[in-house]
Parts: sequence; structure tokens; C-alpha cells
Amino acid sequence: ALYMSGLNMEELKDRYQMAVSSLDSRFFSDDVCRKVLKEHFKVLSLEGLGLGDYENGMIASGCVLQYLYETQKNDLSQLTKLTPYTSGQFMMIDTSTRRNLELVETLREKQKRGSLLWVLDRTRTAMGARMLRSFIEQPLVRKAEIEKRQAAVEELNMNFISREEIREYLNSVYDLERLLGRISYKTANPRDLLAFKTSLSMLPHIKRLLNEFSCDLLKEIHEELDPLEDLYDLVDRAIVEEPPITVREGGIIKDGYSEEADQYRKAKTEGKAWLAELESQEREKTGIKNLKIKFNKVFGYYFEVTNSFKELVPDYFIRKQTLTNAERYTTDRLKELEDVIMGAEDRLYTLEYELFCGVRDQIAGEVVRIQSTAKAIAGADVFTALSAVAMRNNYVKPKINERGVIHIRNGRHPVVEQMLKGSLFVPNDTKLNCTTDRCLIITGPNMAGKSTYMRQNALIALMAQIGSFVPATSCHVGVVDAIFTRIGASDDLAAGQSTFMVEMTEVAEILKNATPKSLVVLDEIGRGTSTFDGMSIARAVVEHISDPAKGLGCKTLFATHYHELTDLEGAIEGVKNYNIAVKKRGEDITFLRRIIRGPADDSYGIEVAKLAGLPGTVTRRAHEVLRTLEASAPKNKVEQMDFDALQEYSSPAVPSEMMEKLEALDVETLTPIEALNFLYELKKTLSGSLNG
Ligand code: ATP
Repeated sequence: ALYMSGLNMEELKDRYQMAVSSLDSRFFSDDVCRKVLKEHFKVLSLEGLGLGDYENGMIASGCVLQYLYETQKNDLSQLTKLTPYTSGQFMMIDTSTRRNLELVETLREKQKRGSLLWVLDRTRTAMGARMLRSFIEQPLVRKAEIEKRQAAVEELNMNFISREEIREYLNSVYDLERLLGRISYKTANPRDLLAFKTSLSMLPHIKRLLNEFSCDLLKEIHEELDPLEDLYDLVDRAIVEEPPITVREGGIIKDGYSEEADQYRKAKTEGKAWLAELESQEREKTGIKNLKIKFNKVFGYYFEVTNSFKELVPDYFIRKQTLTNAERYTTDRLKELEDVIMGAEDRLYTLEYELFCGVRDQIAGEVVRIQSTAKAIAGADVFTALSAVAMRNNYVKPKINERGVIHIRNGRHPVVEQMLKGSLFVPNDTKLNCTTDRCLIITGPNMAGKSTYMRQNALIALMAQIGSFVPATSCHVGVVDAIFTRIGASDDLAAGQSTFMVEMTEVAEILKNATPKSLVVLDEIGRGTSTFDGMSIARAVVEHISDPAKGLGCKTLFATHYHELTDLEGAIEGVKNYNIAVKKRGEDITFLRRIIRGPADDSYGIEVAKLAGLPGTVTRRAHEVLRTLEASAPKNKVEQMDFDALQEYSSPAVPSEMMEKLEALDVETLTPIEALNFLYELKKTLSGSLNG
């Protein structure tokens, strides 16, 4: 296999179905990269580009730039700045989590419909849609930045009439970035310039409306939005209202834009008037009643005489072409006029083309201003869209904290609730934190809604960190640095790995990369092998993830069918059991979709199988087998497996009573005396619990 930078190229190609080409090592030279970057961005030092601290980043961007020059064969002047991307700036979401949470496309059909993007994307412009997508793929981690976005959404909610007006104007804004690309590459045609003009005509209105807002972010967008009135004016003066797509056949430039063009145009029209005059003169002279001057691209201008008038044709008519029922002629005077008209036309077309290119280049020269406006438009679009979605779907503003507390009241799955429509979706609460409620073990029958609940929480955290409002009635979100998921089958199955191998590889990656600030979602891990192996792995993983002393101690949602794992509550601090309630009547069950405290009482696998249509003979037999198994086997094998070692995990912890008191405390309204009394009380609880 071909290895490069420690990566197996063949495997990469297979796995991600991508084209991989390698660059010669000379591209990676420090000096070459530095030179290329300085020249392209016209700077004297790389500090100015923000690359001062990034030696490798400098080489990477230098290489990419050289690669683009080699492959695009263009001046690339629309690349005006570099933005260093550093991890730690954004929430980390690995590829499999991005797929599992169906952020921008669904897992199976790879469609936008059914993804988070589908729910949130009410943007009106291509630029806004791209920015929203990048928001979803790179949620923020800094509280202040998140709150800045929230403030924009909130203010737009409050002024929804102006918001809708902005969105109305955004409707007519074309993809400025793409137009600018075509303008810089000189492939933009006259209609593109007209689309550009239409877009620009919306800018002053949008800017005026943005001026009504006072939060920082919208003020910045307002500032950044350059209404580009000079460019609007330029296109408006130069380009006609309904230009052709072609650039070399005239009809592009407006009257009055260029004196020279106007003159050619006049010569052309005058020539045409002379033609009409010549036509009537000759008709009279020759007595050919239907004599006509016609034009085609091959023969130019000619007189056409139908066969019935052939005898009347005078000597000075020169034959050009014979048709079955007519003859075509020219004369010296006609040739002369033709030269004048065609000459003027030729010169006009050439000139119009030059003028058009001039206008295009002049716009290209303003690339920096246009880009910054495009960015402002994208921002205005994204935030007005997020606000529209929040109001339409009854979202609430999550309160951001840095203590890792996630409290959600009546949370909903943003996508499933849209799919279900009506009020069919059953909301659920969530309580997660870094101490007493760190790891939720979720049991319940298949189909009960475990995956939905877990994804819902991950998505709410993610939406909150985008700056979006979230589907809940009230919500606190403690910033997470990463979301990891291990859910369902993955695409790698096609690449020839076994289900179990894929699962374990992903779990290994999670254990390696998660930090105490991460949120981990694990769905039924360990089921691809024998029950005891699976259960033991699952248990060891939960212990590792949930115990800060032994391993990570990060917030975890863990769905499992191994009821034995519910023993971990009480054994490890911070582990709490939950289950999704079902109602049983005889042999039938109803899903209540409600998450409640405590372990599930049964797995109801056979009942769910019956719902799925497994024949009665089979399910009845399954019940029989189950009864025999339950009678012969000890009820709870894992309990017998004696996890003595667990003892060491139960370190003296803060009494939960104390935590509850602290949590209920409203510091803002506390008087100094009350605070003192509270401290006294806490101290009492603490000594009480240590002695008792
Ligand atoms: P399995 O163990 O088989 O993977 P599960 O417990 O993970 O099942 P889900 O896949 O989450 O179950 O949900 C099953 C179905 O229940 C989904 O089709 C979903 O639409 C519906 N559902 C889940 N949660 C809710 C809810 N809160 N309100 C309404 N419908 C729900």
C-alpha cells in the first residue's frame, strides 16, 4: 500500500470514495509557501494574514494555494483572506456523529429532508444556506459568542415585522459569491450582471431595516453591509434591461453610456433608413412591384426578385444566388450601404464587448467590498431564518452555562416532531450534569423511543451551541466541547468490516478522544457478540466513561437492553437509571413515549416482535422458551459475577441533598444574611452526613 504522511492512501480512497493525488515535495518547502502566500495576498509578513503562529498551517495553505493555481489556471483574486481554524474554537463533531445525528442529510437516503438542516434551513439566499450549514457543522463553544447569536435571534423575534420585511428583500438576492466568482473568472455574461444589479438593488432596503436593531451582532452586520450603490449605478447605466447571454453580438450596452457606441448605433440606423429608401427607389425604377431588400448572415444584403418579374431586372443588378422561385441580386449602391451598416455593426459589437468587459472588470476590482457584503447578507439571512424557525416551531432560548448542566423541560426531537406533525410528539425532560446525574442508563423495549430521546438531547445541545433556540419549554445547556455518538450500523459495513468490529473501533475512538466536557451517546453497544461478552464490555465502557477517577467522567447517555447494567446506579456516583414507559395489557403493549426514573421492568422483546407482525405461533413459542429459560437460569447473572472491584469507585461524594439545595438556590435575590444562614445550613448538612 502507498503510505503518505502516515496515511494509507488506498484505504482512504476506498473508504471515503475520494480522489487522492499527491503533490511533489517541492510544493511543501517553507520558502516557496511563504513566497506564494505573500505574493497572493500582497502582504509583507505572514503575521498580517494571521498565520504568524502556525508554521504547519502556513505550509498547508501555501500548498493549497499552489494547487489551486495549477488546477484552476486563473488569477484567484477572489481569495482575499485566510482564516485560521483551530480546534477548541468549535465543538468537535466527528464524521460518524455528523452522520448519526443526521445533521445535514439522512443516514440512509442521504437526503436533506429529515435532517436538522432541513428543519432549520429557512434561509432565502444561497449564501445564507451555506453559512447555516457551516454553523451546524461547527457549533460554538464560547458562552459569550453563543449568547451574542442568541441576542440577535431574540431581537429578531421581537421585531418580527421588520424581520419578515428583510426576508422579503432577501428573496431577490442572488448568490453574490457565485456571481463574484464568475465575474472574477471573466465568465459572467450580461444576464449575470443584471442578476447582480437586481441583488444590489435590495441592499439599501436591507441595510435600512437592519439599522433598527441594537444587538451587537446585527449592528455588526449592518456595518459590514456595503450597499454598493456605485456598482448598482454602474450596471444600471451600462447594461440594458433585457440583455442577451452572448457577449459578442451587441445588444448589451445602454444608449448614453458611451458616445462612441451611440455614434455607431446611429450610423447603423441611418444606414437602415437609407436601405429603405433605396428599396423604394429601385422598385419604382424597375417596376418590380414586390422587390425587397433582405438579409442573411451568409450573403449579407440583397434584392430578391421572384421568377415572375425576372424580365424586369435591369443590367446593373449583379446576380448573387439562384433559388427555385426567385433570384437574388446586389448593386453597387447596396454594397456600399452594406459596408457602412456592417462596418458600424462590427465596430459596435466589438466596442460593446469591450465596454461590457470593462464594467465586469470594474466590479471585479471591488471584490473585497462585495465579499464583505455577501457575508453580511449571509448573516442577516441566517439569523432571520433562525428567528423565523424559532417562532414557527415554538422554540425557547436556552440559557447557556459553563458548569456542564443540561436541564431540559419538555424537550422535543426537532426533526421527529416535524415528521409527526400535529401534537403527536411526546416531550420529555432531561437532567444531566457533571456530578449527580452524569450518566443516564436508559432501558426500555425496542421501539419505545430510546434512540429518539438520546438524539434529541444531543441535537438540543448542538442547536443551543449554534445560537439557535431549541424545542423545549425551558432549557439550560452547559457548553460541551464535543459530541460523540455510537449509534446503529455504519457505512463501513460495505467496506468489509464486521458490525462488531466497526462498533468497537468507534467506541475506542470515543474513549480516546472524549474529555470530561464532552457529551457521549451510546446506543446498545456490545450487542454484536455473545451476551456475556457484550454485557461485560458495555459495563466496562460505562464505568470508564462515567467515572472521573477511573477514566473520563463525561456526560453520557447510554441505551441498553442489558438490564443488568441498571445495577450501576448506586455503585457509581452519577449513574442514574431511566426507562421509557410502556403500558402492558395482556400480551399487548402501548408505547407511552415518556421517560421516567428507574430501570425498565421488562424488555417486552416478544411483544414488540408481535407488533412487527411475527406470527402468533412463533411468539407463543417464544414465550414458552422464555419461561423455561427464566426458570432454569439464575435471574440475574451479572449480579453473580461479583463486581467487587466496584467498591473502590464509591468515593466519598458531596451529599446529594446538599447539591439539591445549592441547585435550588437563587443567588441573585439572596441577601447577605440569607447567604450566611444558607452557608451555616450547608455546613450542618455536611457534618451530619459525614458523621451519620
Ligand atoms: P430500538 O431499541 O429498537 O432501537 P428505540 O427505543 O431506540 O428502539 P426509537 O427508534 O427511538 O426507539 O423510536 C421508535 C419510534 O417511536 C420512532 O419511529 C419515533 O418516531 C417514535 N417516537 C420516539 N420517541 C417519540 C416521542 N417522544 N413521541 C412520539 N413518538 C416518538
